[in-house]
Amino acid sequence: MARTPWYATAALAGIGVALLTVGCKESAPPSPAPAANHPSAADTAKPRSAPAPAKAAPRSQQATGDDLPDFPPPKAAQSSSASMSGEPSFPPPKFDPETTDPALRGRPIDPGAPLADLMQQAQREGLVDSEGNLKIPPAREIDAAKAAAAGIRELRGTYVRIYTDLPASDELDRLPAVFDAVYPQWCDYFGVPRESNPPWRANAFIMQNKERFKAAGLLPDYLPEFENGFAEGHELYIVEQPTEYYRRHLLLHEGTHSFMLTRLSGSFPTWYFEGMAELFGTHRVDEGPSGLTVQTRYMPRGRDEVPFWGRTKLVADAYREGRARNLNGVFAIQPSRNMGNEEYAWSWAACYFFDTHPAYRDRFRTLFKLPARGDFMEELQKLYEADSDPIITQWQVFVAGLDYGYDLERAAIRLEPGQPLPTGGATATVAADRGWQSTGIRLQAGRSYQIAATGRYRVANEAKPWYSEPDGVTIRYHDGLPLGTLLVAVQPDHVGSGVTPLIKPLAVGSAGTLTPEQDGTLYVKINEATSGLADNEGSVRVTVKEGK
Ligand SMILES: [Zn+2]
Repeated sequence: MARTPWYATAALAGIGVALLTVGCKESAPPSPAPAANHPSAADTAKPRSAPAPAKAAPRSQQATGDDLPDFPPPKAAQSSSASMSGEPSFPPPKFDPETTDPALRGRPIDPGAPLADLMQQAQREGLVDSEGNLKIPPAREIDAAKAAAAGIRELRGTYVRIYTDLPASDELDRLPAVFDAVYPQWCDYFGVPRESNPPWRANAFIMQNKERFKAAGLLPDYLPEFENGFAEGHELYIVEQPTEYYRRHLLLHEGTHSFMLTRLSGSFPTWYFEGMAELFGTHRVDEGPSGLTVQTRYMPRGRDEVPFWGRTKLVADAYREGRARNLNGVFAIQPSRNMGNEEYAWSWAACYFFDTHPAYRDRFRTLFKLPARGDFMEELQKLYEADSDPIITQWQVFVAGLDYGYDLERAAIRLEPGQPLPTGGATATVAADRGWQSTGIRLQAGRSYQIAATGRYRVANEAKPWYSEPDGVTIRYHDGLPLGTLLVAVQPDHVGSGVTPLIKPLAVGSAGTLTPEQDGTLYVKINEATSGLADNEGSVRVTVKEGK
């Protein structure tokens, strides 16, 4: 009988395997390109000088328009099922065993092979213990001299040994230190001791020429085809990438898989397994007087920091093209060798959102402790049940504004229903350095309200402070409107399966009339990307009166 690779049996033991997490394909090109056309690596790696995509017309002027990016149902899953209808809603759909990949359902990978046969085989081969838990072999001991004879160098760190056929460079030489800097971060985040017995270590093969590694016996034949990266237990296989950033990204992405597979128990849904690998993969390295530091779970400030990454652009493009995913659409992502870049981007976005949002992150960081996949989604549902409606709004606002440097701390919204407007009107003060804020004023559908805004606030502090009043200042435009322009929207008490009006605001500037389409609370913010809020200062005073 042919030997079944251990990762195939891992599925039997109900352990999440990286088998089908092999995609990790190249990210989107840094400038507009047809979505369906994946350019070659050489092509994408070239710096582009194409202009930024034309801005959509100001959203404020489309307050009731239907041509806005919306939150449609996710693309039909491979096999559609009623539970994945994808209306923006929360909690997530139940996973259907019939349409969920066997590797993550604890069933044999070969649908023809009876479970009992494979389980017995795995036990015979000593791959699972008496309780059915997978025994993952330690990282292989590799003969460095033999590898060197094949043109493959060894770079040693504490937690990783890297084997590569790439020419020596300072960047390659520091990769073990980068990996070593991240290992304690995985331990601390996932709540496992840094020390283990035996000490934890992975092998990482960074390959320019896969055949060379095959010939040297370092790249096993039984591995499935993979384009960019693959993690099997303590062995990480990484295909050389067009940028140094993205090579490190992939090393940390696969390293995260390896860590989760070997040091955590339980299995995870695809969006979480890939999203966490992307969250830890997205990083920044600094070398200062005190040595090398690596920030993971990092929000890149610009394209230059993360060449070839492209995750924010993929989400932004999908949103602009009307293919934005609600959370159910992210949760429904299935493991597949053909998992597209966009699915990695959505998985990353969802994990970034939950891991960073001040109201949701604490609960999110307990999720990995759960034992099994079905329980994982049920637990997620339970954990966030009370917030299911606000989460829809917060997610939609996040997706609609996602860009480099997104400041979720400042963009997080305190959703609180307002009080009815007193006869004489009401005023509210909102900060210039935050995203959407409630005025605490409740408005009624179909009535007209006069809104007036006053104040002088700093909207930028680049070289010198720039101030704005509610009509905005034309030093810069955002979403087609001057920076600092006052935007308003009426948020209903429940968004339900709909779309929050906060992604379709109206620009009122210093004065305007508002006739809400539905009852709700008046929310206000100044027009600026969230990445620019941190250097703002001051506030806006908003007065609301009923009537013409
Ligand atoms: Zn992956």
